[in-house]
Amino acid sequence: MARQFDVPVFYRSPIISQVKESRRLTDPRKRDLSPSVLDFGPVRFKIARHFGFCYGVENAIEIAYRALEENPDRRIFLLSEMIHNPRVNEDLQRRGIRFLRTTRGEQLIPFDELTPEDIVIIPAFGTSVEVAGALQERGVDTLSYDTTCPFVEKVWKKSRQIGQQGFTVVVHGKRYHEETRATISHARQAAPVVVVRNLEEAEDLARVIRGDVSRGFFFVRFGGRYSEGFDPDRDLQRIGVVNQTTMLATETQAIADLLRQAMIARYGAEAIDAHFATTSDTLCYATNENQNATLALIEDGGDLAIVVGGYNSSNTSHLVELCEQRMPTYFIKGAEEILSRYRIRHYDYHAKVERESTGWFPDRRPVDIVLTAGASCPDALLDEVIREIVGWFDDARPVEEALAPFAEAS
Ligand code: SF4
Repeated sequence: MARQFDVPVFYRSPIISQVKESRRLTDPRKRDLSPSVLDFGPVRFKIARHFGFCYGVENAIEIAYRALEENPDRRIFLLSEMIHNPRVNEDLQRRGIRFLRTTRGEQLIPFDELTPEDIVIIPAFGTSVEVAGALQERGVDTLSYDTTCPFVEKVWKKSRQIGQQGFTVVVHGKRYHEETRATISHARQAAPVVVVRNLEEAEDLARVIRGDVSRGFFFVRFGGRYSEGFDPDRDLQRIGVVNQTTMLATETQAIADLLRQAMIARYGAEAIDAHFATTSDTLCYATNENQNATLALIEDGGDLAIVVGGYNSSNTSHLVELCEQRMPTYFIKGAEEILSRYRIRHYDYHAKVERESTGWFPDRRPVDIVLTAGASCPDALLDEVIREIVGWFDDARPVEEALAPFAEAS
């Protein structure tokens, strides 16, 4: 999908947007995943070939700002955070948009306060059948400003399709993430559903499928993560795997392979098509590209990595997960977290706490910094990080000089 969206200019950036545009022009088919290098002399930034706003996020931002423009006299609500980036959500709130629910689904403003005159924007993650129904019952139009990403809808469609063919839907996702809640809701209209968080849980599900453990084990291990009336003896005979679009694509693939093998062990290779549905065409292109670009980026090496994004952003945390396997990695929501050359405040997504680290910036020249960002992060935030760090070096090349190789190309 090559559509250009009308995204407010303040989310774009003079540095990163030029690098991206130059790479787009010289490699339109995105064959070259090697990082772009911005060489400032004492510090070099290695920038991922793909990162930042994806199709779904640009689409959501365009619709949200259009809703503001088209309805200056009406109350405008977002069902919950539109995307997981604090800068974007804060800007929308400053312009008068109010959130109806938290990202975990807790009610902030009762739906009973809504009237048919109000505008409600559905976020890029989509929403459940039940919530959409509750809004429609109150006369709220849920379609005019629905920003649900088409790639998320594709997962719902596939879930319905395989459900109608008698397959149970296994969702690889985080149970309480908005998108997974919405996918569970849509999938269970047509099929039993169970959620697995990671490969370890998938291995336990495979044990149930192979008959290595009792059905009682299933109910304890997957408590709260299966649809009502789920019967493991009946509902694990035929399955298909879909994912929360921002999970690690390689992990989703590994989970699908593992469960497929469990089906073969139970029913034999010749019967596999009757027991395991093919669903690999539902993986999100942006997640795939960003993760592949991050792999190429860390392969290229660096002294440290900075990953920029909202701390509740699932896709960003997966980029952090990839980077931290290879180098010290700092997950920050913006340049304001870089307190000095010696101190940085960053998010430990394993422990789900912010930490402060000292001595994080190497005392050598040049320092190679691997830089990337999640799909909900405006490019402008990376410019701020670059300017902050480059500002420490009196002898750093000016931005125009570091950008020269990209200016020539574009
Ligand atoms: S990451 Fe993929 S599924 Fe999620 S909003 Fe972006 S394009 Fe859509």
